[in-house]
Amino acid sequence: MQTAYSKEELRNMLAPLRGGRLVLVPTMGALHEGHASLLRQARVLAGDSGSVVASVFLNPVQFDNAGDLSSYPQTPEADLELCRSCGVDVVFMPTPEVMYCADRSVTMEETHLSTVLCGAKRPGHFAGVCLVVSKLFNLVQPTDAIFGKKDYQQLAILRRMVRDLDFPITLHGAEIVREADGLALSSRNVRLTPEHRAAAPSIRKALLEASAAYTNGASATDVCVAVQRSLEAIPGVRVDYVTLCDAETLHELTDEKRLALLAVAAYFGDVRLIDNIELTRRA
Ligand code: AMP
Repeated sequence: MQTAYSKEELRNMLAPLRGGRLVLVPTMGALHEGHASLLRQARVLAGDSGSVVASVFLNPVQFDNAGDLSSYPQTPEADLELCRSCGVDVVFMPTPEVMYCADRSVTMEETHLSTVLCGAKRPGHFAGVCLVVSKLFNLVQPTDAIFGKKDYQQLAILRRMVRDLDFPITLHGAEIVREADGLALSSRNVRLTPEHRAAAPSIRKALLEASAAYTNGASATDVCVAVQRSLEAIPGVRVDYVTLCDAETLHELTDEKRLALLAVAAYFGDVRLIDNIELTRRA
């Protein structure tokens, strides 16, 4: 495995790997088993003849909250070790100064899917994501890229970006990896207090109960109210949003035969956790 710290190093390391399948997995570091599952899927997709590139870059442009950025865990040595163990060929690990020109002045904004869910709560977040991912796509020029469904809205927005801007890249969505108690793995979980860590699996429990109720005919409103109430009953928890929407458009579900998405964001103390579940009605 090789590690590139500059764009030039990256270009030189990738030159001999071009021509075959090149699978990119973008991350912000503090890697865990959720990231590892993406990297392993990338390895399978690339096969023996292809290559896997992981980027580890804590992208300041996508943070709408300075405290969240400064408290974000960073574990570069362990990240490299995990990448190595997952069969990554090249890790790109730039600093913000390497990634961005100080006087950068071009933005990248998706304007429909980004207006709801986390986009409505975190101004500029998805523009920052689209900017960094489009830069990574241009730098790496992968044939494929893998993103987790944990960040369901991010995946939907990036699919739209690839479609609308004709990036010649196939995107793949990976299932959410969870702790044994149901909590979705996240780099932010280490910041939870012991009390909030113990309570956090309630998110998954509420989503599973909601899924069963929705399958059996409960209304979208009733489903959302039930999730909201069960999370608000936990001391120190503040619900940011609970939304049931069309899984593709992320806007209102107008046809119940379509796949629905139930998405939640909630603050456990000052740690914002997100989770989601895809829902269908009983046929
Ligand atoms: P991040 O480092 O949080 O930006 O995440 C990098 C990639 O890993 C994104 O595509 C995430 O959706 C994905 N990811 C993060 N946590 C999980 C998880 N628990 N299960 C599956 N994918 C995940």
